[in-house]
Amino acid sequence: MMWLAILILLILLPIAWRWQFWRPTRKGLLVLMYHHIGHIDATDGQFPFTITPQRFEEQLLCLKKHGFTPIGLSELQNAMHTGQKLPAKPVLLTFDDGHEDNYQNLFPILKKHQIKALIFLITHYIGKEKGYMSWQQVRQMQQSGLVDFGSHTLDHARLRKLPDEEILRQLTQSKKEMEEQLGVPCVTFCYPFGSGGFDRRVRPLVFKAGYQFDFSTKPGINPWPWKGKKTLLRAFPRGGETLTDFYIQITRGKSKF
Ligand SMILES: [Zn+2]
Repeated sequence: MMWLAILILLILLPIAWRWQFWRPTRKGLLVLMYHHIGHIDATDGQFPFTITPQRFEEQLLCLKKHGFTPIGLSELQNAMHTGQKLPAKPVLLTFDDGHEDNYQNLFPILKKHQIKALIFLITHYIGKEKGYMSWQQVRQMQQSGLVDFGSHTLDHARLRKLPDEEILRQLTQSKKEMEEQLGVPCVTFCYPFGSGGFDRRVRPLVFKAGYQFDFSTKPGINPWPWKGKKTLLRAFPRGGETLTDFYIQITRGKSKF
């Protein structure tokens, strides 16, 4: 009997390691973190950050099937400032960096399903660097009423490594440029390099610069109401993952180590 128990354990352990169904399910605000929507070779370094348009649509259907309601920035702001209730299982889709495939591949899908999204722009890359959107494309997405934009610094700076004045410049200058280009307040900020990009010195400066919401790459589902004591957590669906991984992510915030 002993060897049988050991055998079962040996089979179950790797499965439990790979698909972490044992994590507790969480209620609250689910935020998903994406980067590219497109096709890329599995050997490319961007592969984990790239979801195919087909898989992305499957994920949207999966969210719908499990009762999630996509929300936009306005719903988030109303819930924070006027106490308006969020839907029962709210989900906010976020995209980092402002890649051109967001305009080419993501935007048509958002329009088709009438789903909102929030995109964080590296303002000095927009209209300048290859592979990034132009301000015209950004404005076109904004005018659809489906896409809002936040700041991801001027040039993808690792804020933690910078002196206070330079951090504040990255925060306030990118905010100002966003507002000049888009004509609406820029209230959301996303840290480049996730947890490695900020620390306890950086975070208060984000709010000092006038932002209301800060997003990190820390995985999880946010308890709601969000008190602002910690950055907003985001689940991270990776390229090449299955819908089983996605289901674990949206119910538990994290699917693997
Ligand atoms: Zn980034």
